[in-house]
Amino acid sequence: MMDELWKTTIAQIKDSLPESDFSSWFTRLVFGGEDNGKVTLYVPSAFFKDKFEASFKELIENTMSELGGQNYSIILEVKKDAQKLNSDKKSDEKPKTETSFPSSSNNQPAAADQKNKTSKPSVDDMMFNPSYTFESFVPGDNSNFAYSACMAIAKNPGSAYNPCLLYGGVGLGKTHLIQSIGNYIKKNTKQKVVYVTAENFTNEYIQSVGEKKTQQFKNKYRKVSILLMDDIQFLQKKAETQNELFNTFNDLYDTGRQIVFTCDRPVEELKDITDRLRSRFERGLNIDLLPPNYETRVAILRKKCQEKGVIFSDEVLDYIASNISSNVRALESCLTKLIAYCQLLNKDISLETAKEQLKHIISSNNDTSGISIDLILRVVANYFNVSVSDIKGKNKNQSVVLPRQIAMYLCRKLTDYSTTEIGNEFDGKNHTTVMYNVQKMEARLKSSEKEINGVIDKLETQIKLESRK
Ligand code: ADP
Ligand code: MG
Repeated sequence: MMDELWKTTIAQIKDSLPESDFSSWFTRLVFGGEDNGKVTLYVPSAFFKDKFEASFKELIENTMSELGGQNYSIILEVKKDAQKLNSDKKSDEKPKTETSFPSSSNNQPAAADQKNKTSKPSVDDMMFNPSYTFESFVPGDNSNFAYSACMAIAKNPGSAYNPCLLYGGVGLGKTHLIQSIGNYIKKNTKQKVVYVTAENFTNEYIQSVGEKKTQQFKNKYRKVSILLMDDIQFLQKKAETQNELFNTFNDLYDTGRQIVFTCDRPVEELKDITDRLRSRFERGLNIDLLPPNYETRVAILRKKCQEKGVIFSDEVLDYIASNISSNVRALESCLTKLIAYCQLLNKDISLETAKEQLKHIISSNNDTSGISIDLILRVVANYFNVSVSDIKGKNKNQSVVLPRQIAMYLCRKLTDYSTTEIGNEFDGKNHTTVMYNVQKMEARLKSSEKEINGVIDKLETQIKLESRK
């Protein structure tokens, strides 16, 4: 029972966090047991522990308490070989759940703990999420073209659509499709296919420079037949990595090997990308992935129900599809929530229950990301004890300049609004002002000023929590 609750909690958190956060922080978290509402979780290092204390503890507690219908508090314990302990468990003991999630990340933040890796599937196997296949993808008007192109690429890599770039908003299936290509090729051919997020590519590159192993790095990426790179927006401002990717690109392209990229926005909206790399992204086929229409949303829900072996009434599915329109991940979150409810309480779902259970997800999804600019402004103003109108306004007093900068930065980071739209919310400021402030904040965060990093973490967690209320 406790194990189920833990699994459901993790599934729900996975749906509510950016994938990179989840794969960086939650894949090495180990459930240790529960006693009287106190839940012990093992983390691999003090670094993880601090991060969890600051960013995720409350989220886990709230999610678990909400799903379990009683209060749970989390105790974090550093246990260097927790994962090993996990796999050594005898079968008659209550199994401890390890949150498993296929992650391409071999650059976890606590690099020092790398040696704790036990005999797991190879990194190559872990790059691909086996559930991301063409069969499990439901094409609709919004995605037919992307779907067909990816299929054509998988069947005949390096020919018609090379390179190919898929772009579109969060949760619309970019990762699913690009991974489907990889899974298809792995299953049907012997060709070497590599999936990597631009973030991991960057981290690996930096690491290889630090360890003087750039040649190894170059070999790894230049030997592949098909390179699938997810979320290239992450490369913005990373000039060195861009340079490396440019060279890799040329190498692969000139020898007819397939490259597929994804991006959360059109290439022309990427900032701080060198012209020569931008022109490479623009070469070949660029495909837009749009939000699904109502019929496609219902079809996706039906498919997911089928996969999970559950049945919900048409009116429940209609309710979800009518209320969530812009993000397939959010559709899935609704199903996860209802399934958890059914399993824990052993009850069927009526329309009334569905409405009650889903009201948080649905109300927070009224904008594309689940987080509104208003909410961000409110949380930041409250934290600094200044008024929302001061943050929005023109006052140059030091006491509001920093909160304003932070609020703009968080709007950019946590929502899908463009800098123009954000500027409008800040009393009609120009988008360049927003950009300037966001960049300033990013620079400060990068120079890893401890205090400001801590503040941002705290605010982010609170905003995410509030958005779920
Ligand atoms: P993105 O990378 O664009 O942010 P993902 O590929 O991670 O989005 O998709 C989010 C979730 O929604 C995934 O679990 C994915 O399987 C699912 N999904 C998205 N589009 C579809 C679709 N058309 N059919 C089935 N599942 C989908
Ligand atoms: Mg993605």
